[in-house]
Amino acid sequence: MKTPTQFNAIDFDSAKLQRLGFGQASPLVARPISLSQLRQQLSQQLQTSLEPQRILGLFFREVQRLVPLDALAYQHKTSDLRLEFGQRGHHTLSYNLRHEGEDLGEVVFRRNQRFAESEQSDLEAAMSALLYPLRNALLYRAATQSALRDPLTGTGNRVAMDQTLAREIDMARRHSQPLSLLMLDIDHFKRINDSYGHGVGDEVLKAVAESIKTELRNVDMVFRFGGEEFLILLANTSRDAAAMIGERLRYAAQVQDYFAAGTRIELTVSLGCATLLPGESAQSLLRRADSALYVAKREGRNRLAMAG
Ligand code: GH3
Ligand code: MG
Ligand code: MG
Repeated sequence: MKTPTQFNAIDFDSAKLQRLGFGQASPLVARPISLSQLRQQLSQQLQTSLEPQRILGLFFREVQRLVPLDALAYQHKTSDLRLEFGQRGHHTLSYNLRHEGEDLGEVVFRRNQRFAESEQSDLEAAMSALLYPLRNALLYRAATQSALRDPLTGTGNRVAMDQTLAREIDMARRHSQPLSLLMLDIDHFKRINDSYGHGVGDEVLKAVAESIKTELRNVDMVFRFGGEEFLILLANTSRDAAAMIGERLRYAAQVQDYFAAGTRIELTVSLGCATLLPGESAQSLLRRADSALYVAKREGRNRLAMAG
């Protein structure tokens, strides 16, 4: 028998509040509703965000007021997006979302219990609320991504580089960690253009960018610095470790096969390496890496030089 005293003794710790549905946008999460109520609510809530993560997270949470689920997975290949909510389940229902010929990704619902036909049709009806919010979020994502990427190679552009370099210098200082930088330039690239044409030159640029990305752990730290020049930021990496990575990149470029019109193109790269000094500015760090690159070129190319 509950007394008012016992009632007041409820432990309002945050974990429990979470389970009770507090601390989330709607405290009514667990309460079942009708399909039409759900659709109306979703259409209001989902349009408040341009983040696919938030839109699908909200959808996953709210749709369970109608159809309980164990998991929801979402994937949109063209924008390199993969999201997972919840745990795994044996039974799956998957949908390719399309709108006027446009690919809006794939949604997979998972549950340990079989899906009834009525649940399937409820999910399908509820998904119509995803259409416009998801499309807008994907367009927004594509626009922001393209503003920061070099369209030819898919590496970061100068704007992205400036932002990332400033952020990484700040982080390196704050956590007293080393930060190194590699400036990579293709050797005699002009000859490739002259011998095989610009189209082949572009393909070679893409291949070199791919080779750099494959060798590195973090693809978000590769930038196209100039025409045939790339900059690689190595967070928490000492001078010696950066030299080893630079050497690995040099070797990978040399042994990679590039073909144009059936003939193998010989290609090498030169690199300059610099490690952030105490109190050093971004410009100075870039200048030192560039001077080291110049030394590598002068000393015969296909090599790595360290900044003094
Ligand atoms: P080095 O070994 O001294 O670096 O010689 P290099 O020929 O690589 O250097 P140089 O700076 O003389 O020439 C770079 C060439 O890269 C000139 C330019 O036409 C070409 N280039 C720059 N951007 C692009 C591009 O986007 N596509 C293609 N195909 N070529 C490009
Ligand atoms: Mg060059
Ligand atoms: Mg160059």
